[in-house]
Amino acid sequence: MNATERALVLKIGRFREADVWVRMLTPNRGVFNAFAFGGSRSRRRFVGCLDPLSHVLFTLGTSRRGDYTVLEEGSLLNNFSEIRKDSVRTGIAVNCMRFVEAVEVNPDDAGIAYDLLLETLTMLDESQANPEFVPWLFRAKYAFESGFTPDFMACGACGKPVGMESGYKFGIERGMIACPTCLSAGKPLDGLARPISTGALRALDWIQQSTPSDWATTVMDSEVRRQCSQLVELFVAYHLGLSWDNGMYKKV
Ligand SMILES: [Zn+2]
Repeated sequence: MNATERALVLKIGRFREADVWVRMLTPNRGVFNAFAFGGSRSRRRFVGCLDPLSHVLFTLGTSRRGDYTVLEEGSLLNNFSEIRKDSVRTGIAVNCMRFVEAVEVNPDDAGIAYDLLLETLTMLDESQANPEFVPWLFRAKYAFESGFTPDFMACGACGKPVGMESGYKFGIERGMIACPTCLSAGKPLDGLARPISTGALRALDWIQQSTPSDWATTVMDSEVRRQCSQLVELFVAYHLGLSWDNGMYKKV
């Protein structure tokens, strides 16, 4: 039976003479491969659809034996032409797409990943801003949305709201902060913990509440940014088992 589904194309490859495989993310199925037989010849059925960084409405079918997904045809919804014109923004988009691939999005989190990637690409396409910190905001937001939601505004041990004093720490494993009073009373955070300023805590709380459209106009103090990005990378590495290394995401 055929079904239509919106998809973000992550990667394509050719096999045999005219056939194409497509790695895509859809809101219902997560990341998977489908096959477009004759795809590289058929200009009519797949106009502009078989390119990475395309948003497409695909008609999906199943192979005769039911063992893989076949693309019957596609209608291009958006090819993000402004991103494609700019190598910096293309690099950022590819970084986010590779993260989604590496994280092996399961169907439960497919809608989260799809909405987040689509909103991020739309923001990158429409904004003129310098989006240098988009990749780690994207990773942070994905980790937060997929169920790891630390409370950055209250001590996880005593519950006291974060004030102006220094001396807070963030525990990576339980996603919990501890206030200076609890730390000096010897209530330890389990496992890996890092000092964190109240400015960085407020920034992480903001990231948790933000949507990608907010990121275009983000201004962040460089010290706050350094602390937040380091914590996010540790948090993502621990909870999603991934780190960014030399242009690739690696399982850690
Ligand atoms: Zn406390």
